Parts: sequence; structure tokens; C-alpha cells
Amino acid sequence: MAKYIFVTGGVVSSLGKGLTMAAIGMLLESRGIRVGMQKLDPYINVDPGTMSPYQHGEVYVTDDGAETDLDLGHYERYTDARISRASNITTGRIYSNVIEKERKGEYLGATVQVVPHITNEIKAAVLKMATDDVDVVLTEIGGTVGDIESLPFLEAIRQFGLEQGRDRVMFIHLTLLPFLRASGEIKTKPSQHSVAQLRQIGIQPDVLICRTEREVESDMKRKLGLFCNVPFDSVIIEPDVEHTIYEVPVILMKQGLDEQIMHRLQLSGRERHMQPWIDMIEQVKTTTDTVEIAVVGKYIALHDSYKSIYESLAHAGIANGVKVRFRKIDAEKVERDGAEPWLEGAHALLVPGGFGPRGVEGMILAIKWARENKMPFFGICLGLQVATIEFARHMCGLSRAHSTEMDKSTPDPVIDLMSEQQGVDRMGGTMRLGAYPCDLVAGTLAREMYGADRISERHRHRFEVNNAYRKALEAKGLVFSGNYAEKGLAEIIEYPDHPWFLAVQFHPEFQSKPLRAHPIFKGFVRAAVTHRDVLAKSGKPSVRMEPT
Ligand code: GLN
Repeated sequence: MAKYIFVTGGVVSSLGKGLTMAAIGMLLESRGIRVGMQKLDPYINVDPGTMSPYQHGEVYVTDDGAETDLDLGHYERYTDARISRASNITTGRIYSNVIEKERKGEYLGATVQVVPHITNEIKAAVLKMATDDVDVVLTEIGGTVGDIESLPFLEAIRQFGLEQGRDRVMFIHLTLLPFLRASGEIKTKPSQHSVAQLRQIGIQPDVLICRTEREVESDMKRKLGLFCNVPFDSVIIEPDVEHTIYEVPVILMKQGLDEQIMHRLQLSGRERHMQPWIDMIEQVKTTTDTVEIAVVGKYIALHDSYKSIYESLAHAGIANGVKVRFRKIDAEKVERDGAEPWLEGAHALLVPGGFGPRGVEGMILAIKWARENKMPFFGICLGLQVATIEFARHMCGLSRAHSTEMDKSTPDPVIDLMSEQQGVDRMGGTMRLGAYPCDLVAGTLAREMYGADRISERHRHRFEVNNAYRKALEAKGLVFSGNYAEKGLAEIIEYPDHPWFLAVQFHPEFQSKPLRAHPIFKGFVRAAVTHRDVLAKSGKPSVRMEPT
């Protein structure tokens, strides 16, 4: 029978609750305990698929094709938990399930209410995670305690604790200890209030994890324990990390959080196995060799929009023994100024995914520059589509080639809507989503990097390379090195007459881990290092330039 841990957050949002939860999952796994990871989000959208990246950051896609919160990316990077559609449930999903049941008459004439019907649906969503292969289900409650929206979730987990028995359910509350510069003090009052609010609902946290910028003295921990009714040892301090977010599990480990959880939930496991992870962090801390990768994208202002891509590049850096620096460039600025002032001196170019026309001409300029200047280029999703447009325009002489997403009346629609997308008029959950197999062509860069003939990668798109143009593109040297055979879809393109030029229609960034860098990211960063060295030898600038 599974045990359960609920993670709530207080005082402010963006405390790194998802990261902390991922770190806890990882610590438990390191002791041989099998975890399930889940996030409950209190907003009304059925899933985040329809939200703007500025609102929500990246939409994380699971193997089974769910569009989910980016915290699930942390869960997958830190743990081996099986992440699926059941791993992210929103208020919108809960209500739509309940309303559907009501319409079917399943409530047998009852008045349908928040308690018990909505709370029952929430509890059922948690129980669904307790499959045979899971010892501990970790569930993060999105939002902050005190929000109107989170109330049904907190009520549901309170009931859950009572029903399952308190020895099988644990509550962990993450909070902030703000530092007041004026008085030079760390303050505990907001945390006291947030725990008081939890207790009002009937939840007594077993462990308090306190995010802070500064050192915290024992006295302060004692005070927090006293006011929040938590034992001294269960007040865990999580200071800001200096080098890498991958330090968080080690910080929690050093304070014995895993031991406490094992004891509290009566779990039996083996000794911790954290050494490879600890070695990896040590390597990150001491690496001085750097490589700089330009990322030209649409939602560039917000780091979270391309979270998994930056993480995957960092993993590839670890695998290559270098630190990866990012030169984040708004594609519209490249459109305005041309590519050279922005790309010169960088060691490689990555163009990530996106939707709609804004900035696309800038991406085209950037890719053209990288192709002509032999700078390694990696395109992801929209990045593949734009690379195809660039190649068609400048190598195949189709000067008005475009994607019908951007220009419906283009004479050369080299990127077009997939046939199964014709006539789709609902936005939510209707793209080509989730994992599909891809066959790799022998003798290509892709085949060499993956070291396999058939791979599986996750997708999120509506448009595709128009096969009517395949021959024309191939005639000028573009190679379709990965394909989804069943539907004849192009999945990977590459250009062998270049040191490293490759783009993928899928999202490899969802399958990279710190100790298991994704093969394409790894190859790309290696190519960037090579290019850096070539630049250095040629006497061309290889320094960071800061155009405005
Ligand atoms: N807008 C493009 C499409 O829908 C690319 C999507 C993406 O980059 N995720 O096909």
C-alpha cells in the first residue's frame, strides 16, 4: 500500500516548490524507494496547453501526450518516476470531470457540491497515482496557501490524511524567510502566518522547509519550530544555491530529510546512493571552461519559456566538461539589426519552438548566417520549420517559401498543416502530442549521435515539412535523416555540407537528465566547443558582444 507526501507552499509563489519536491523524490529514489510524482494546479484551464508562455512558461509534454506544468520537467529530470497524464491535474480538469458525471446522472439526484463532490474527485486523482509500482506518491499543491483557488485542494488533502491514516500521509510545507535589509534581519512572521492558515484548515505540517537567501541560526529554527508546532529537526533550511539547482537534493540530504521521511512513513530502504550526483555537482562547481550558445527565439525574455532547453544544454555541458553560457536573443532584434551583430563571437546557434509569425524573419536571418558561417546550428520544432524555409528560400531559389502558419498565400508552402489537423477548430489538446517512433537513416549525423536505428521522442505541433518539396530540398543537399514512417513525416533534417547543422520536429529537451545528457544536445555542445576552438585559431572574435 502506497504512502503519501503532500507538498504545499506559503508566503509567496515561485519559491521553487516543484524543484524541492523533485529533490525529495530523488532522495527517496536514491534509497531504493519507488516514487510517483504529481502536481495539482488550482487554475481553471483544463491544462496549460492553451496558455501563453509569458503566463505560464514552458508547456511540458509527457510521453502519453499530456500538456502539463513545467514542474513536471523537474520531476523527470531528478527522478525516474513515470510521468503521465495523471501527473498533472487542474481545477478545470476536476470540474469538467464532475460536470460530465453530473450530466450523465451519476450523482443519482444529489446536489453536486464542492464538498464532497469536488473534493472526492481530487482525492480520486491522487489515489490514481498509487499504482503497484509506486511506494510513495508525492503530490505538490500549486499556488500558495491562502489563495481562494487552492481551498478545495487543501480541504481534499486534509480529508485524505484522515481517511488514509496519519501514519501513511505526510505534509511538507515550503515557506519563505524574507531578509529585511533595513533592519538586517531574517523574518519568521510570514511563515508563522502561513502555517497558521494551514492549521486553520486542519493541516499540521510535519516538516517545514524554509527558503532563504542568508544563513539561518539555530535560534531562528527553534523559534520557527515553536510557533509552527514543528520539531526542531523538522525545520529544514533551503538557502539559494550558488552554482546549480541540482544542489538542492544534497542540501536537503545533509539535513537528514530523507531519514525523517523514512522514519515518519515507516519506509524501509537501502543506504543512500548519491555519489554520482555529488560528483556531478562538484564538476559543475569547478568547471571553468565555457562555451557560449546563442538562442534566438520568440519568448526569449522569460527563462521559463524554454526551461527544458536550457537545462538540456547544461546537461550536455556536464557531459562535455564545459559550462554552457546562454546568449539569449530576441528574434525580433535580429530582424531589426541583421544576424551578425548578434551572433558574432557566439559558438553555436539554437532556434527553439514557437507559434505565430512574430520574429520568424529574424530566425531565418540567424539560421542563414549560421549556415553560411559554418556555425553549429540546432533547430527544435519551429526551429526545424524555419530552417526548412531558410533552405528553400536561399538554396532552392524559392524566394517566397514559407509556412502556411505564417503566410497563408505563400506560393511555396514548404511547411504546411498536417493532414489530420485540417478542420480542427478546438485549441486545447488537439496538436500532434506525445511520443512517436522515428526511424533514423544509416550514415547520418542523427544516426551516429543516437547510436540506434529507431528512437522515440515527444511532439507538440500542428505543422510539418510539406513532402511535395522533399525532392527539391534533397537535390540541394538537405538530408531527411529521421522520419515517422507510418505517416511519412519528416522528423529530423540535416545538412552534411556543414560542420553541424541539424534540426528536429520533436522536443528532445523533454528527455534529458543531468547524468544522462540527451545525445543530440551532447553532440551539439561538442560541436560548439570545436567551433569555439576554430574561431580562436582564426583570430575571429570569440567573446561576448552586447548589442543593444
Ligand atoms: N508552430 C509550429 C507548429 O505548430 C511549431 C510548434 C512548436 O514549435 N512547438 O507546428
